[in-house]
Amino acid sequence: MNVIVFSKRLGRARQIELGRPLAATVTIGLIVTILAGVLFAGVQLGRSNVFAPTAQVADWGRRLEEQRQQVVDARQELQNRLDALAGRVGQMNAHVIRLDALGRRLTEMAHLDKGEFDFDRVPAVGGPEALAESALVAAPDISSMLDTLSRQIKDRERQLSVLESLISTRNLSRQIVPGGRPVMQGWISSYFGQRTDPFNGRTVYHKGIDFAGPAGSQVVAVAAGVVTYSKDRFGYGKTVEINHGNGYVTRYAHNQRTLVTPGDTVQKGQAIALIGSTGRSTGPHLHFEVLKNGRAIDPMSFVRQ
Ligand SMILES: [Zn+2]
Repeated sequence: MNVIVFSKRLGRARQIELGRPLAATVTIGLIVTILAGVLFAGVQLGRSNVFAPTAQVADWGRRLEEQRQQVVDARQELQNRLDALAGRVGQMNAHVIRLDALGRRLTEMAHLDKGEFDFDRVPAVGGPEALAESALVAAPDISSMLDTLSRQIKDRERQLSVLESLISTRNLSRQIVPGGRPVMQGWISSYFGQRTDPFNGRTVYHKGIDFAGPAGSQVVAVAAGVVTYSKDRFGYGKTVEINHGNGYVTRYAHNQRTLVTPGDTVQKGQAIALIGSTGRSTGPHLHFEVLKNGRAIDPMSFVRQ
């Protein structure tokens, strides 16, 4: 390395050549000085409390703002859900009101004692209109509304089920007690009780009523029930038996053909066989029996209904 020095005194430039070790020392010294300066300046800036804390505060502020927004969003979300829930409660309330109307109508239709049923009780909470008016709904309100509704629904459920069983029992008893004629065409040719046997002239006990009618015309069930027998039976010919519950069984004998099989459910008035003359019979007729708890009774009172 060469260093050129200008000297006024000498009036000319003098060139001094520095050795390599010296040049390296000077260079390192310069670099160290610059680094120290930068470091000092940095420490001074840090001590001056101007830049770094401001950035931190700004960061905190940003986070706080984010969290504030999250709280606002969560609150809005909750409110939306509450509003939706309130809407559902309103709908449920409307259903209860409709159920009450149905219950009142059924009670009237069935001519039941109104004292037993209380579909007129005014609901403890307002209807859907009242809910729609209030823009904001608080959570505890919803909770108590749901409790009240739940109680009401349980109460109505109980009342309606009692009502249903009362009505269905009444319809059932109307359906399962034998009533009406077992034939579509024909006339009574023999009554229940003692009579002279048409085959041997002896006095015998006739356990049913005979209906003389055109062969092939319909034999119908006198009440709803389940078919328990449908085939040939000694003396009776092709026979159908129907169990109606409550101890009632009806028997239809001497048919040309049976139209049902055991296990079939039949309705009152349903065709179950065709009039014929099978078995111990002198001509086309239906032998009709009503059994109560296994004993043949006079079907006349039922036929007259
Ligand atoms: Zn008979």
